[in-house]
This record gives sequence, C-alpha cells and structure tokens, in this order.
Amino acid sequence: MTTVHSEPSTERIPGRAWTVRIVGHGRSSASVTCSTAACRMPPRSEDLAVLRAFAARHAAAHAKAATVRPNAWCHCRSQRCGAHPDVKTHCAGAVLMILRHDPVMRRVWSVEEVCETCAPLIPNATVLARAERPRRTPERPTTQTPAPARPSIAGGFSSPAALGAGDPAPVRRSRRSRPRRPGQGR
Ligand SMILES: [Zn+2]
Ligand SMILES: [Zn+2]
Ligand SMILES: [Zn+2]
Repeated sequence: MTTVHSEPSTERIPGRAWTVRIVGHGRSSASVTCSTAACRMPPRSEDLAVLRAFAARHAAAHAKAATVRPNAWCHCRSQRCGAHPDVKTHCAGAVLMILRHDPVMRRVWSVEEVCETCAPLIPNATVLARAERPRRTPERPTTQTPAPARPSIAGGFSSPAALGAGDPAPVRRSRRSRPRRPGQGR
C-alpha cells in the first residue's frame, strides 16, 4: 500500500536534533538542560534519579511532538558521522527518528533525525519513528523488518500536527515601502 503524495517540498532540510543532558554541580546536585533553550527544566536537585527520569521523559516528548520529515538530511552526517567513526558509510534510505542514550553514562539523551544507513551504526540508538519514503528505493524483499507502518500517536497527544509540527506558512509582514523620490509625483 504505497500512496505517494506528490509533496511540493522536495527540498532537503537539515535533520534536527534535541539533546537533553544532566549537568552536575559540585558533588551532590545536578540539573537538566535541553538544547532547546525555550524548554522549561526542573530546578537543580540532589535527586539524580528524578532528574534522569525527567530527562528521559523530556527527550521522549520531543520525539513524539516532532514528525519525522522524509526530506530531512541525516543529522549524523552533519556531524561527519562522528557517532560511528569506524564505519564509513554513504547516507541513504528513509529518515528515522532515533533516541541515543548511553546506559552506562546515563547523562545524555539525544533525539535525532538520521538516515536508515547510519541508524544501526550509531551505538545505543533506538529507532522511534520512521518517515515515509520520499522516493522508491529498491529493497531486498528478504529483509524482515517489522517496520511500523506509521508512527503511532501516543495517548495524550491528539495529533502531531496540532502540536505545531507543521509550521504555518510564514507571513510576510514587511510591506515594501515604495521609495518615493522627492520632487516626483504631484
Ligand atoms: Zn527540550
Ligand atoms: Zn552517520
Ligand atoms: Zn546518515
């Protein structure tokens, strides 16, 4: 079942990334930061477990609120594939939304739009969602990937579009003020 919508925007756009981090302050207290400056973070706390739980939830919320865009560039590639320095690859395939989290360090949660080729090479990455393919790509039918047909909308979020995933068309506010030459006109 492939209904290919002729998307008007075939332009490639940079892959997005959100990074949520636990930052320590001295010995006992820590806080959470998010790469999105507008996000509200809890105050500094000594309860690392609570902060970690918050950070994990926060990263998941960013992933849920964002829709994977089929025309996004691989974020991994934009970082020169530093996440998998040992394996050189050529970015290809569908765009995936992944969550990276090192279970040993347990300090950083990264949600990123990356390509299908990089995703399995990135350590500690979990695929959260997959974009519809922008174009037909030959794929071996033998690969048995239980690919989710579409990212299911989790409870609590009515629809990703309602959360501002799709930006409204930018309205040009600046009216071009016609330069009126002095001396001319009337
Ligand atoms: Zn955030
Ligand atoms: Zn890569
Ligand atoms: Zn890639």
